[in-house]
Amino acid sequence: MPSSSDVVMVGGGVIGLATAWRAAERGLRVTVVDPGSDEGASWAAAGMLAPISEVTYGEEPLLRLSLEAARRYPSFVAELEAAAGTTVGYRRCGTLTVAADGRDRAHLVERHRHQVGLGLAVEWLGGRACRELEPMLAPGVPGGILAPDDHQVETRRLLEALRRAAASAGVATVADAVEGVRVESGRAVGVVTRGGIAITGGQVVLAAGCWTGRIAGVPPRASALVRPVKGQILRLRGSAGAPLLSRTVCAVVAGRFVYAVPRGDGRLVVGATSEERGYDTTVEAGAVLDLLQDLAVVLPGARELELVEARAGLRPGSPDNAPMIGPTAMPGLLVATGHHRNGILLAPVTADALADVLTTGVVSTLIAPFRPARFAGAPA
Ligand SMILES: Cc1cc2nc3c(=O)[nH]c(=O)nc-3n(C[C@H](O)[C@H](O)[C@H](O)COP(=O)(O)OP(=O)(O)OC[C@H]3O[C@@H](n4cnc5c(N)ncnc54)[C@H](O)[C@@H]3O)c2cc1C
Repeated sequence: MPSSSDVVMVGGGVIGLATAWRAAERGLRVTVVDPGSDEGASWAAAGMLAPISEVTYGEEPLLRLSLEAARRYPSFVAELEAAAGTTVGYRRCGTLTVAADGRDRAHLVERHRHQVGLGLAVEWLGGRACRELEPMLAPGVPGGILAPDDHQVETRRLLEALRRAAASAGVATVADAVEGVRVESGRAVGVVTRGGIAITGGQVVLAAGCWTGRIAGVPPRASALVRPVKGQILRLRGSAGAPLLSRTVCAVVAGRFVYAVPRGDGRLVVGATSEERGYDTTVEAGAVLDLLQDLAVVLPGARELELVEARAGLRPGSPDNAPMIGPTAMPGLLVATGHHRNGILLAPVTADALADVLTTGVVSTLIAPFRPARFAGAPA
């Protein structure tokens, strides 16, 4: 049990683990503190690496970070797989976003125009061309957008690989929840856990996802602005010999958004709702029904699949839905949270940038727009 480290990482989701691993690779002694349940958003996530298909109006700075994250993913995966001795199911399969009918097609035409205006690599396909790529799509699908550079990773294998890589780089773990940050003369000097363990750290990083604001001793504007955004998500299983899809398919169905991420062996991850419901993680029959009904409109064969899991995860959302990465106003205290619906995609870029800050104190231009201090004037 380490009583002192260079870095204490509060939270062992994808952000905490990736950052801990990268910091340890640079020679820092790192301790990750996490209760060790699978309640985090990372365990629920689908693993879409889709900055192009998911681009949203007004989020251009986030798009730049997301595109850079996608560009770095292959080398990150190669290094991680070598360090962990295991694979993470990274697939360069592309993403096809289809419409269910003419009205939904109009929505996608508008989205396509936006993507083209941003210079993104997308191609508009008619219904027949969509079905040539994905023959199991419903005959009524009138068209869609192909984003060949949007990929996917198997999130749970990614987490396992990060745990292994971190352990082999010397990262220590404490299976407990952090109660609060210890502060001396205005500086963060470590944490104390609910089990009463005190761990001293030269720097403390808050990476506890949507629970970051619940940790005591933290200046309110450093973290209390993070909120949970509920996502209900399903896991289906079909035949490994005859998978329904070969690439990720997103669909707009009567104005609602649904996606299906194929794992290549007949499994499909189907998601996801986006709800402002506090810390509620109830799985509701209505949400399961909506997701499956919407999916079946564009992919009728999904009705035959086995429903193996339904769960809700809580995305960490910030006031502008962009991440908060970097030092806070309190010396020794850093934050890495607020990754909302893109944390799996943004983990490598966050980890590398934060490892830079932890080792050199320098905040790179890439993450500068995401400083926690941008909310300094906001009510806590
Ligand atoms: C349904 C759903 C689908 C998603 N799909 C995608 C996707 O396809 N692509 C994508 O890029 N992103 C996706 N996301 C978003 C992504 O999952 C999150 O942005 C990302 O997982 C956030 O990682 P995190 O490490 O910050 O938080 P989390 O994964 O939530 O981890 C936080 C960790 O902190 C720990 N913790 C909590 N309290 C304490 C405490 N007091 N002390 C110590 N530890 C504590 C928790 O146990 C947890 O392990 C999805 C999210 C959801 C919910």
